[in-house]
Amino acid sequence: MEFTNAAELIELCSEQKKKISQVMMDREIILFHSSREKIMKRMHHTYDIMKKAVNKALNEELTSMGGLIGGESKKLYARIKTEQSVCGDIVSKAISYAVGVLEVNSSMGLIVAAPTAGSSGVIPGVFLAIQETFGLSDEEMVEALFNAGAIGYLITRNATVSGAEGGCQAEVGAASAMAAAAVCELRGGTPSQCLDAASTALTNVLGLVCDPIAGLVEAPCQKRNAMGASNALISAEMTLCGVRHIVPFDETVEAMYRVGKSMPHELRETAMGGIAATPTACGLCKSIFKE
Ligand code: SF4
Repeated sequence: MEFTNAAELIELCSEQKKKISQVMMDREIILFHSSREKIMKRMHHTYDIMKKAVNKALNEELTSMGGLIGGESKKLYARIKTEQSVCGDIVSKAISYAVGVLEVNSSMGLIVAAPTAGSSGVIPGVFLAIQETFGLSDEEMVEALFNAGAIGYLITRNATVSGAEGGCQAEVGAASAMAAAAVCELRGGTPSQCLDAASTALTNVLGLVCDPIAGLVEAPCQKRNAMGASNALISAEMTLCGVRHIVPFDETVEAMYRVGKSMPHELRETAMGGIAATPTACGLCKSIFKE
């Protein structure tokens, strides 16, 4: 039941005629000596935390540690039903929810690191938007989290999901790939299509650097989560309409890892490069830390 790469995962899915989420769930049951009920219960709890974080940002005033972000989720949400909305219902919801989770994270609230705190908005944003738009049940969403988990597990196992090691492509890129694959499965895509969607999402952000202003997971992290959520949705949509990804998922992950390793340390979470090294960002850093 164990799989170590996407090729093995696809083989298991095809041998057993199962979805990625089912194969991943079977793996969890065996590894944790648990039952489907217990594993599902734990994942329901995880999804509940995601939902609460989204609602917290929409309903409360949150103050981030560095004061660089706050209130963005409400602003985006308020535009959804207006004629001014550029993105339309589903993307607007996904980005509003995604940035909200980053507000919760930066104000020391409870979030699910999926796969990291810095990228914690992508999956809740995409999942809640998809659930509301298509009227899906919690049970369906929780099952899809196992699909996302399988993608996250493969990237973690064979590369990295750490911004300090691989740049933002590894953090938000991984979250985006996880969400893209899950959406694909939820909308009837095959296991191969799920991996194509994940590959597309990861490829779209290849080379994205990690450059948090003042070293805080606030900016540009919050907007990167909005981008990651939209990236997941467009990657799933392209795949579901039949657009193939040319490079297999395992090779895409390897390419992402190689790019990450070739990035200078200034662009890997040290706040010494990228947008964090601009005069304005350096000034903000000084005022936050009263240097
Ligand atoms: S910029 Fe760095 S800290 Fe911020 S979300 Fe991306 S990887 Fe995480």
